[in-house]
Amino acid sequence: MEKEQLLEYVKSQGIKFIRLQVTDINGMLKNVEVPSSRLEQVIKDGTMFDGSSIEGLARIDESDMILKPDLNTFTILPWTVERGKVGRLICDVYTTTGKPFEGDSRYILKKVVKKLEEKGYTGYCGPEPEFFLLPKDEKNKQIKLEFLDEGGYFDLLPVDLGEETRKSIVNALQVMGLKVEASHHEVAPSQHEIDFQYDDLISTADNIQTFKLVVKTMALIRGLHATFMPKPFPMVNGSGMHANTSLFKEDKNIFFNKDGDYQLSQELRYFVGGVIKHIPAITAIANPTINSYKRLIPGYEAPVNVAWSVSNRSALIRVPAARGKGTRAELRSPDPTSNPYLLLAVIFGCGLKGIEEKITPPDPVIEDIYSMDNNRKIDLGIGKLPGSLKESLNELKRDNFVREIIGEHIYKTFISIKEKEIECFKVHVTDWEIDQYLKLY
Ligand code: GLN
Ligand code: MG
Ligand code: MG
Ligand code: MG
Repeated sequence: MEKEQLLEYVKSQGIKFIRLQVTDINGMLKNVEVPSSRLEQVIKDGTMFDGSSIEGLARIDESDMILKPDLNTFTILPWTVERGKVGRLICDVYTTTGKPFEGDSRYILKKVVKKLEEKGYTGYCGPEPEFFLLPKDEKNKQIKLEFLDEGGYFDLLPVDLGEETRKSIVNALQVMGLKVEASHHEVAPSQHEIDFQYDDLISTADNIQTFKLVVKTMALIRGLHATFMPKPFPMVNGSGMHANTSLFKEDKNIFFNKDGDYQLSQELRYFVGGVIKHIPAITAIANPTINSYKRLIPGYEAPVNVAWSVSNRSALIRVPAARGKGTRAELRSPDPTSNPYLLLAVIFGCGLKGIEEKITPPDPVIEDIYSMDNNRKIDLGIGKLPGSLKESLNELKRDNFVREIIGEHIYKTFISIKEKEIECFKVHVTDWEIDQYLKLY
């Protein structure tokens, strides 16, 4: 949207406030609200904020930062309409000398988009975020670790709070311009998935942030809590965020080749080769919490082994049956605690490297990998994903290429935040240990 057009729109719609949004290194959406009367000035000069108070953005000694709104991201927050309309704009972060800030993950993704463009490529991604809807106590305060329903995959339930909430999420997303492709009850009770249409990489990462805000807000309005925590309940499926990736040159999806094996192109293979080569370090970004690794275990539809397949859901990367424009590689390891800007930056950065350096992946695997014995896995060259945050951080430390993609500032801050998280977890005694050992010893 052009500046004049936006100012006019804000005025004619009676929008009172604008929220300026930015994502911190942990993928959390932060915002500062300005009255609409300041919008013109904010568009011109940006607005100053204290970068040091946002996790991973800036150090205390270089804390003055400038937020500049991206006018294409304007939308009304639909739940504010009745009590005074609020609009939002997603922002880029600049230093006071006017340079894009290296600690801004949206900028890191922009750099990857530019690299793709230099080679004539446009990257696209369609994400599949999953989440749980949980009840709260009578006072609407404490979250209860209980299911709202007994539903399962694609179940048609009698209308309950969960389903009502999902419907209101879809409505709000549509008002905000996201094109919802499908929404369904997921495999676990109380678990849902909403898929929105693939888009270019910046739009997709922006959309994921909008999506999380909408899901959390709609749940809150209905007295529920929505969580994107990867594995809140043991012994049932966790929540992932599959990333369906494709590359276009002009109008053509270059992952498709009607004469190739399985009608797939060499570029798709190299892209997969690049991602597989760097997956240990990518995992630190795609699965960035201690809890992420409780999801990556056998038996719950989440990947454990490093392999790709043209159908099989036990693989890390699956190429779904769609061909032509819809040809894509679905990376199944990411979970929704990942920062979507960094996530797409490392996937596409490594995929592009695969194409540039012609990195050939192992052959696609046809058999079910969950039930395969170890010797067979070794024969087929199937490795394992890192089993813990500590392992994946170590892999990130070893991978100079992924480090280069995310840049020195983010690399160092990320490692430091995550090492603190690991240390913090170490001092805690879990319920499982109490159950196992208190009586026995
Ligand atoms: N919830 C599963 C995961 O953890 C995915 C289930 C599915 O979408 N088929 O990745
Ligand atoms: Mg799905
Ligand atoms: Mg799913
Ligand atoms: Mg999927």
